[in-house]
Amino acid sequence: MTQLAETHSDPQPSPNGTGATGVHALPVTPLRVLLVENDEQDADIAIKALQGDPSSPVVVHHVDSLAAALPLVELNGFDAVVLDLQLPDGQGVESVRRVLDVTDQVPIVALSEYNSTSFALQAVHAGVQDFVAKWPDAGRSLHRVVHYAAERHRAQRQLQYLAAFDGLTGLSNRQQFHNALRKSCALASRQQQTSALLMIDLDRFKLVNDTYGHDAGDTLLKEVARRLQGCVRKSDTVARLGGDEFAIILEAPCDEYGARVVAEKILEALAKPVVLPDCEHPAGGSIGIAVYPTDAADGETLLKNADIAMYQAKTRAGSSYQFFTDEINRLVAERNRLEGELMTAMRDEQFCLHYQPQFDTVSGALVGLEALIRWQHPTRGLVMPGEFIGIAESLGAIGDVGLWVLESACRQAAEWRRAGLYDKPMSVNVSPLQFTEGFAERVLESLEAVQWPPELLQIEITEAVLLSDSAHVLQDLCKLREHGVKICLDDFGVGYSSLYYLHRFPIDILKIDRFFVQSSAHTDERLVLILKTIVRLADGLGLKTVAEGVETVEQLERIRAYGCGTVQGFLLARPESTDDVFKRLTAE
Ligand code: C2E
Ligand code: CA
Ligand code: CA
Repeated sequence: MTQLAETHSDPQPSPNGTGATGVHALPVTPLRVLLVENDEQDADIAIKALQGDPSSPVVVHHVDSLAAALPLVELNGFDAVVLDLQLPDGQGVESVRRVLDVTDQVPIVALSEYNSTSFALQAVHAGVQDFVAKWPDAGRSLHRVVHYAAERHRAQRQLQYLAAFDGLTGLSNRQQFHNALRKSCALASRQQQTSALLMIDLDRFKLVNDTYGHDAGDTLLKEVARRLQGCVRKSDTVARLGGDEFAIILEAPCDEYGARVVAEKILEALAKPVVLPDCEHPAGGSIGIAVYPTDAADGETLLKNADIAMYQAKTRAGSSYQFFTDEINRLVAERNRLEGELMTAMRDEQFCLHYQPQFDTVSGALVGLEALIRWQHPTRGLVMPGEFIGIAESLGAIGDVGLWVLESACRQAAEWRRAGLYDKPMSVNVSPLQFTEGFAERVLESLEAVQWPPELLQIEITEAVLLSDSAHVLQDLCKLREHGVKICLDDFGVGYSSLYYLHRFPIDILKIDRFFVQSSAHTDERLVLILKTIVRLADGLGLKTVAEGVETVEQLERIRAYGCGTVQGFLLARPESTDDVFKRLTAE
């Protein structure tokens, strides 16, 4: 027979008898206790003991069998279960195990006739929070024990929560994610089905953080978390692994098609602007996808491969998703190998410089040289910068490489100058990542060391440098310019090409990207018009222009006609080795 009784202790009267004008005591939430006890007398003692202290109210549900208790326990509505260990349908620690089989989310306080330490220990080992013997103290300790057990358990769960979830977004954290991934792979294996892992990295998150502050960044992350959760099933896991990196486990059954559908849904959800305190920002992101077990035999490899696919997606402009493939894997392996070799290259000085001449469009005279780095690879021959500058940047090695380029190019130019062969500008490319604190000083010191006059140095920067718009970039550029260094904006026209930059930053030269230079008057009328307009604009602002990538006579004639002063391109000269430039200079 099941008997369910609910009894309340009286609410505590307000200690100072406050009326409407007084300060009200905070309401105390009563503890909800399930008492499982078949003996009527014992139940009475327990209920009285539990409700003996009106300052900490307790609501007791009383049932008299394990069979009646288990379905109630499953509902998870209790703060504690007081469990008699001698029930008609459950004996000793076996009852404890049966309750814990249903849920481990509620603390159990055991009641027993036997006041023996070894029996109490047995119960504790089985998983009870505490043990109360019947009733040397007429049950007085029961109230305290149950409260402590509930409080301990609550604190424990709080800790568990903190250990498993991200404080900002409430999503699973990295540790919880790893557990979930392991379980998800095991489940998919057992069911002989596939599951999928999505790695998501937000676009331009750093920019939001740096420009609008961390509060805006946090708001964005929380909103992204909410939208991601809206794109998946309840059983899937959405996690924040750190920073702006999220991961989603799509539980089995989920095949490539299913993962594609979710990825597209996510991109759509992220494309909608997020309203931040001072602006609206479309979150946007890159997604890498790996399918288990097609792409990896275990969770760890699956994670690595989804990550690889994500980095591949990131190399594309704008938001996109990318599945892991063998080809991507090969590319990444190649990149990893290059990374390792690049460190050796720096140590063993395997870099060298080639120089591409620049000419006056009218007189045809040599007016400058641009230093371009090459890597003399011991087995692969000459490796071009497009293949390794990005790697050097990501390895944090570009500072050293860049300084080496600057010093070597200027040392060489100084040598030619001393020999009376060359007295014109040397152009050096500078990566945005070289613009760290003290950049201008480092450049000036290098020039001093190799004895090259600052007025004959041109540094070629890209708009990415100006994009950060940080105060020290402006200061560094101004400082260099005060010393006579010329600033050239490279690849102009294909980046942001904000006219604001031309106003804000001290720029001397616009290097027009070959995209415009190589456009054809027959097919790309508008591009040709843009080219013409850029030259005019520069002219109006007192800036010089260099057209790069000139490959045909037609292109040369056009830029000359538009009034662009300097030309660089394969038509007139390719980048040349030191020896070839030397020959060219001596022949002049
Ligand atoms: P960039 O600064 O735009 O350099 C011009 C690139 O265009 C060079 O490629 C050059 O060989 C190529 N080029 C010149 N004329 C023509 C032409 O008529 N047609 C075509 N199709 N290409 C032409 P390179 O040497 O492979 O350099 C590629 C990029 O690597 C450079 O683009 C620059 O962004 C970067 N880079 C090169 N050297 C350095 C360096 O020392 N430091 C840094 N940070 N980047 C460098
Ligand atoms: Ca350049
Ligand atoms: Ca360029």
